Amino acid sequence: MKLKVAGIQKDSIVDGPGVRLSVYVQGCSHRCPGCHNPETHDPGGGFYINAGDIAEMIDSCRNIDGVTISGGEPFEQPAASAELARAVTARGLDLVIYSGYYFEELLAKSASDPGTKTLLCSGSLLVDGPFVLAEQDYNLAYRGSRNQRLIALPRSVEAGKPVEWTSRQNCINY
Ligand code: SF4
Repeated sequence: MKLKVAGIQKDSIVDGPGVRLSVYVQGCSHRCPGCHNPETHDPGGGFYINAGDIAEMIDSCRNIDGVTISGGEPFEQPAASAELARAVTARGLDLVIYSGYYFEELLAKSASDPGTKTLLCSGSLLVDGPFVLAEQDYNLAYRGSRNQRLIALPRSVEAGKPVEWTSRQNCINY
């Protein structure tokens, strides 16, 4: 299955704990004012790539701690993002996912959308919510505005409510 992406970054140190391969998907309907990646908004932009080809890139990386799927909006391509998520977890790597939707919205959607459910059950950390310029804070880890949350996955799915992600240890134990 093909995923539409804006770009792929090796050795990212800002998209979650440790050193990561970051996949920035193309297309985002949130259009948050002040978004740092406005070039990812247009669903007509970017390019298609097979999840298997991204998996080969993962295999070529040395000493990465995990993979991040960011955007753009990964949950607007749930089936293709889920296929990538399965490739990541099959390799024993941890998965961080960014979304402009809040966890509660995604959990509700997961009841009828298998891709969304797979993503929520495959990730270790979800950074949720839109970027809100009035809430911008440069001192936050892995996120840009105070409304955004670090959500532990899949623990939050099991609990049926958001459980705060508090440390890297939580991440790499899953
Ligand atoms: S959800 Fe993320 S990528 Fe989409 S507009 Fe908001 S900040 Fe940008």
